[in-house]
Amino acid sequence: RSKEKGGNSYNYYHPDMNKRSLHRLNMEINLRKALERGEFRVFYQPIVNLKNGTVFGMESLVRWIHPEWGMISPGEFIPLAEETGLIVPIGNWVLKQACVQNKEWQRQGYAPLVVSVNISAIQFHQLNFVQIVMDALDESGLSPDLLCLEITENIAMNNVPYILDTMQKLKLLGVRISIDDFGTGYSSLSYLKRFRVHTLKIDQSFIRDVTSDEDNAAIVTALIAMSHRLKIKSLAEGVETQDQLEFLISQGCDEIQGYVFSKPMPASEFEYMIKENKQLYIN
Ligand code: C2E
Ligand code: MG
Ligand code: MG
Ligand code: MG
Repeated sequence: RSKEKGGNSYNYYHPDMNKRSLHRLNMEINLRKALERGEFRVFYQPIVNLKNGTVFGMESLVRWIHPEWGMISPGEFIPLAEETGLIVPIGNWVLKQACVQNKEWQRQGYAPLVVSVNISAIQFHQLNFVQIVMDALDESGLSPDLLCLEITENIAMNNVPYILDTMQKLKLLGVRISIDDFGTGYSSLSYLKRFRVHTLKIDQSFIRDVTSDEDNAAIVTALIAMSHRLKIKSLAEGVETQDQLEFLISQGCDEIQGYVFSKPMPASEFEYMIKENKQLYIN
């Protein structure tokens, strides 16, 4: 019996590790083919302006629909896409798709919407990144002020001159910039001044317990006040309950995004929502 097992010792010593690396390899092989096979979709989640209750715009969130595995969330494949560099073609595709879709809604006569696109640090550090943004705008015909690039604080970990130069070029192009997941990254507050972003997205980890955890309430209150003093818009992410919404309104938060209004949805459903001009703001 032990002899039988001996032949299989490779598996015997690290069964979980092998299973995991096999799973990862299988996922990578499939991810490499997903773009050409047309397996990605862009979902849109409304961003609501709390001052007037209208839809300000939407965040584009990529979904991978595998023919056998079904829908895979970005939390599962974005890290792998970043490790393998596949995030560059995938991210560029999402950017283009979001611009084309937003232009299409403009063409159909909907009120102007600002579409946000997540930009991974690896994408941002491509030397032709500004050109890629320009191409997406040119090819779609979308007005630059209807595009917002969401970057995270972690982008600024190194090569500050390159980042400042790229931000300056993007600013000249007329696109908007927001800092995503604010408060969870590494960078110092001084970056906020140097990068002159349009919107600060307060990470959902602070919002989750904002009505029960005094520390989170203090942090959120301070972040909203600080962004106002810096003339940056504040946006709260992951707002799920009416209580959280009311707290954010009371603090003067500018915009929110979360299940309390809507989950991310396919373009057709998002279009239906703006067509019906559904009143999103529940006061
Ligand atoms: P993110 O950019 O911070 O996006 C917000 C995430 O919060 C989304 O998860 C969204 O579905 C989720 N969310 C929105 N409202 C609520 C809420 O009320 N409650 C809760 N619990 N969650 C809410 P999703 O779509 O799974 O995306 C996860 C992350 O994956 C994103 O976080 C972003 O970092 C990344 N990601 C998604 N699409 C792209 C993309 O096209 N490119 C890149 N580079 N990253 C992407
Ligand atoms: Mg985001
Ligand atoms: Mg976020
Ligand atoms: Mg994020």
